[in-house]
Amino acid sequence: MTISNGNESLLGTPLIPSRLAPLKEEPTKGSKRIILAAPRGYCAGVDRAVIAVEKALERFGAPIYVRKQIVHNIHVVRELESRGVIFVDEVAEVPTGSNIVFSAHGVSPMVVQQAADRELNAIDATCPLVTKVHREAVRFSGQDYHILLIGHEGHEEVEGTMGHAPEHTTLVNDPDEAERITPPETENLIWLSQTTLSVDETMETVRRLRERFPHLKDPPSDDICYATQNRQVAIKKIAAECDLVIVVGSPNSSNSVRLVEVALEYGARAAYRVDYASEIEQEWLVGVETIGVTSGASVPEVLVDHTLADLAEAGFTEVSEVRTAEEDLQFSLPKELRRDASGEIDAATIGGRNRR
Ligand code: SF4
Repeated sequence: MTISNGNESLLGTPLIPSRLAPLKEEPTKGSKRIILAAPRGYCAGVDRAVIAVEKALERFGAPIYVRKQIVHNIHVVRELESRGVIFVDEVAEVPTGSNIVFSAHGVSPMVVQQAADRELNAIDATCPLVTKVHREAVRFSGQDYHILLIGHEGHEEVEGTMGHAPEHTTLVNDPDEAERITPPETENLIWLSQTTLSVDETMETVRRLRERFPHLKDPPSDDICYATQNRQVAIKKIAAECDLVIVVGSPNSSNSVRLVEVALEYGARAAYRVDYASEIEQEWLVGVETIGVTSGASVPEVLVDHTLADLAEAGFTEVSEVRTAEEDLQFSLPKELRRDASGEIDAATIGGRNRR
């Protein structure tokens, strides 16, 4: 299903690797069916970030530099590279005076300053829901709180958030680490989190933190974003019915990896993550009657379509969708792109859709 509001990314399909031989039909006892989880795929923040890069290409021409992967999906990155986008790890790699886009995962103030020092034209595609966490970090550190940030070490979002309050933040990777951290002694402790974590695991981390620090304060609202939560709720709903769950998403996509874990926790007999349908192994399908399919928040729907097509060749032709939420959140473009070359304001808003 494609929902269009005229703002589509032009992400195409030629870079999708094709399978050399169709998946073989494997013998099973009953019917072979697919349950497609919904919501799945693109969230509003990813949609906005990809469109921001496309608008920057239109407006300024190639090359456009992007710090880190604009979103954590290899297909999206390769597609944009083929159109003149250069992905870099650090601002220092970008020639002075160039155009640079900051990824949906956000950056620390230090990175913003580095870009200014190099006189770069910076376009900030940080997801507004990540910016909200940045603001919380600034606000609470300013009120002399110490922040226990639940998140994964080395993830770009965590680096960006910690960079907003480096002296006031302790990272907590998982429930076990909640037992070991040694924050400064203070009554002013608050927890915040990365936006793409497992809801259940995060609550367990908070429970264990609160056992040690009973005065620990909750954030004013959820930091795990609506898209992460909705995709987890959908996979929880179907997991127990599935002999196999296939999550389309890249290995560095936190929310995609969490979907595999959640599927297994909630009763799927097996669960795998693939970037492309061509990675599905024949042996995964042996004896399987019901396959659940979902995709991470940075995955264009075309990759799910290819997965369904390959599975149809293996006899999984019956497809039904189980939807647990409707999503209609929309964001406006980054402010640096809201005015076009003639000075007109582009008031378009961008929502997460199952984009091609
Ligand atoms: S997964 Fe959530 S926080 Fe990340 S870009 Fe999407 S909406 Fe924003």
